[in-house]
Amino acid sequence: MRFAVISDIHGNLEALRAVSESIRREGVDRIVFAGDAVGYGADPLEVIEVVKSVANAAVLGNHDSVASGREEPTYFNVHAAEAILWTRGRLGDDERAFLKGLDVSVTWEDFTVVHSTPLNPLRWSYLLAAEEAAKNFPAFKSRLCFIGHSHVPAAYCMGSKGELSVEAPGLVPLKEGWRYIINVGSVGQPRDGDPRSCYVVYDADRQFVEFLRVAYDVSSAQEKIIGAGLPPFLAQRLAHGI
Ligand code: ZN
Repeated sequence: MRFAVISDIHGNLEALRAVSESIRREGVDRIVFAGDAVGYGADPLEVIEVVKSVANAAVLGNHDSVASGREEPTYFNVHAAEAILWTRGRLGDDERAFLKGLDVSVTWEDFTVVHSTPLNPLRWSYLLAAEEAAKNFPAFKSRLCFIGHSHVPAAYCMGSKGELSVEAPGLVPLKEGWRYIINVGSVGQPRDGDPRSCYVVYDADRQFVEFLRVAYDVSSAQEKIIGAGLPPFLAQRLAHGI
């Protein structure tokens, strides 16, 4: 079985279309969504539509939570807050209900999916270092946990004796006796300096996780953000992957 895990699409339909095309080429059996369909980008409705129709498992992101009215954007920066309130105003009853109904954490097949951290999923903290990962491994039972939220792809690995390592995105073979927290990166707003969309393929039979990068039509996504009257910075950052 091969799974594609996608996250942090953030209303970027151009990026999602390019990633969907890549997923088709990869011959994937199931698609898993790790949260944040909306926020920042200009196509929240269209992105929700695609996620609803293709995702076999899905969890709630913090932007999904605020857009649906589950919580207020009290901790959002000014650009994020402006974009999420704009998004909230665009959602119809169906989209709102879909986002509101997403689970915070899902355990499916042989893995767990959560947007921020398995330890405290609704605190929306970032997991960016091996020491943080170490605190999170006891918080889930499966061997693998897929996360998003930081938009920075990486594989955090823990051996049976508690040894830790961080693997850069690429082809990551899954070793016997090791457990993994995989940040799958962002489809719609990468922040690791590479503007291309990022997602992962998990091959359960051959036991590897592969991070893939996909170029997409950045300028169309930028034009839509400007055209919608959203903060220009949200358009500019897409070109730089920040
Ligand atoms: Zn995000």
